[in-house]
Amino acid sequence: MINILEKDFGFKIIEIKKLNGYENENYLIETVNNKYIFKKYPYSSELESIIQSENEALLFLSDNNNQFPIPIQTTDGLYVKIHEIEGKKFICRMLSFLDGEMLGSIKNTKEIFQSFGIFLAKMNKKLQSYNNATIKSRIWNWDIQHFHLNKNYIDDIAKAKDRSLIKYFFYQFEENVNPVIPSLRKSIIHSDANEWNILIRKGKVSSIIDFGDLVYSPLINEIATAITYASYDKENPLDWASIILESYNNELPILESEIKILYYLIGARLCISLCNSAHSKKINPENVYAFSSEKSAWKMLNKWLLLSPLYVENTFRKSLNMKVLKKKNINEVIKRRHQVISPIFSLSYEEPIKMEKAAFQYMYDADGNTFLDAYNNIPLVGYSHPKVFSEAKKQMSRLNTNTRYLYDKLPEYAEKLLLKFPDKLNKIYFVNSGSEASDLAIKLAYAHTKLNKIMVIENGYHGHTQRGIDISDYKFNHKNGQGQKDYIIKVPMPDTYRGKYIKGDGNVGSMYASDAIDIMKNSKSSVAAFIGEPILGCGGQVILPKGYLNKIYKSVRKQGGVCISDEVQTGFGRLGNHFWGFEMHNVIPDIVIIGKPMANGHPIGAVVTTNEVAESFGKGVEFFSSFGGNPISCAIGMSVLDVIDEEGLQENSRDVGEYYMSLFKNLQKKYPCIGDVRGLGLFIGIEIVKKNSKNPDTKLAKKIKNELRNRNILVGTDGPFDNVIKTKPPLCFTKENARMVVFNIEKILNKLVSKK
Ligand code: PMP
Repeated sequence: MINILEKDFGFKIIEIKKLNGYENENYLIETVNNKYIFKKYPYSSELESIIQSENEALLFLSDNNNQFPIPIQTTDGLYVKIHEIEGKKFICRMLSFLDGEMLGSIKNTKEIFQSFGIFLAKMNKKLQSYNNATIKSRIWNWDIQHFHLNKNYIDDIAKAKDRSLIKYFFYQFEENVNPVIPSLRKSIIHSDANEWNILIRKGKVSSIIDFGDLVYSPLINEIATAITYASYDKENPLDWASIILESYNNELPILESEIKILYYLIGARLCISLCNSAHSKKINPENVYAFSSEKSAWKMLNKWLLLSPLYVENTFRKSLNMKVLKKKNINEVIKRRHQVISPIFSLSYEEPIKMEKAAFQYMYDADGNTFLDAYNNIPLVGYSHPKVFSEAKKQMSRLNTNTRYLYDKLPEYAEKLLLKFPDKLNKIYFVNSGSEASDLAIKLAYAHTKLNKIMVIENGYHGHTQRGIDISDYKFNHKNGQGQKDYIIKVPMPDTYRGKYIKGDGNVGSMYASDAIDIMKNSKSSVAAFIGEPILGCGGQVILPKGYLNKIYKSVRKQGGVCISDEVQTGFGRLGNHFWGFEMHNVIPDIVIIGKPMANGHPIGAVVTTNEVAESFGKGVEFFSSFGGNPISCAIGMSVLDVIDEEGLQENSRDVGEYYMSLFKNLQKKYPCIGDVRGLGLFIGIEIVKKNSKNPDTKLAKKIKNELRNRNILVGTDGPFDNVIKTKPPLCFTKENARMVVFNIEKILNKLVSKK
């Protein structure tokens, strides 16, 4: 190669050193008087014309100020030469070498970042008048406007959870950026102002190298790319981004329409980098340079998710002296709601929150705050999950109808869901909610047993319909409730913390069951159904003690009744070790009701039962629910099951749940106001009590909940005394999230109560 170069350029080479490169080879060439960069690319005619254009752009920019590399001509006057080396064709070119330190290799300072913004703006200003047909027609996957081209590489990313995060940003881009791209101002831009392409001399950005990504793209993509890389590994990326933006804006004003989408452009650029890293790793695992920034990019993308798009936009607006976007006064929002919505629909927290968006375990409010949702079990696989969204969208664009027609989604989903149940439970009825499911479950029980009493557990909750309330002590026994109906038999909540029998009293499960059976036997007529939650949610996360259900189920069946498990809260892997709550009690119910997390927030519910019960019910009038089992609901439900499996969410619930619980147990050792910590997987309750007693401290629980809300963490309170802090987050919750909740509870407790 040395011979070829010396011949082409007519100089004597003293030293030649190979440098890092993405897809091409780069060499540092030293002659007696000068240094150069020699670049060698595998030949393609398309690349040849791009490199010709790149040289043309460099000559256009060239200012003899060492800001940009200058193409060097061969002795025969060529800027690009094709050579055959060892039987392979290569495109060869020489560029001037620019001195300086890489931005990525030195301590970043405000001054450097200010000069970076100015440098880019000046370059962009110059390039605005540059025209090149080849660059203009270039369609390149690293160009943010062609983000979608990188979709091909998503599957090269190893972890399903990581793929979901990337897909989320793809959808956000499609929603928020694609519609405005045609209206953005465009220019030829460098498009790769990363930290290894920016050179610093005397504490300022002095040069930019590597024009291999030149594209004709929305101008804002230049700054989006620069900010992305400049923010890597920074504690507060937005502070650094703002410095670049502000100084850029002073040279070349940024438009409001551009600032609006910058959050999504940066997210997209991170995803492009990550998709390409994954792809490079797959096709060329030796080239570590191609995926050297992967770790920083993942870190930054996860950080990006923690920032609300509105917060980012407002931070950028502030740095540009633009008016920040303000939400409406919360009291006005509440007033408007109450004009048409009865206050019987309660609002959470002393200071209600107006939500705008949500992603995975995070929610973003109308003020730009990000909340960690440690409470809501409905978005089981995470808010705005891309798989759920895409399956819903696909089916919505195809067909929605009802169960009176044949379509594959219904049996497909039913089969898939029933695989999660014991063989005996093999018939399913789709409805629209948990309430509708519990209502139908009672109908099935009546049809099958021809009996009429329903046995329920104190503090149980099964739904808001009239039947739902009839069977929910939590509602009918409320001070404003309807009271207990004649056909209801209520048994005490087997609370082993505060109940009649507590931990250590012996076989408490059996003791509570015996009491319940006595109550059942003392009632005048037989029980058609016993309904219970494996862990009583509204009862304050009270786990039914070991042996309790087993004994009751046997007795109920013996006198002709059926047993219903309400899995609306406990189902779908939330408990970690078990997919359904009844599994932890070693029983198989005759009827199971499910809902809430089943479709990640889309309203569906279902009743699962045995062949025998289904046959009895089949002898009655036709069952039809207009929406129950429609193909869209089925598609969404199916996507949730897929995500649980693909992302290992049940296992995550077990692992993070165990860890979360251990943190709470440690806290309990320090603070006497924590009377009990109980639960399983990501379904946990913390009982708040008065010092050295089991007396519920409802006020303190409420205070903790509201203080947490003020610290952007969402939990709830429940239980008969409303003193149990409940946490049951989306199953993508992480150990870091768990630490954050417990850390903040400790901070709050430190302020409010004394330690042990
Ligand atoms: N059962 C249980 C255990 C529940 O927690 C709920 C809702 N909180 C329901 C049934 C009723 O479900 P839905 O609100 O979807 O009607």
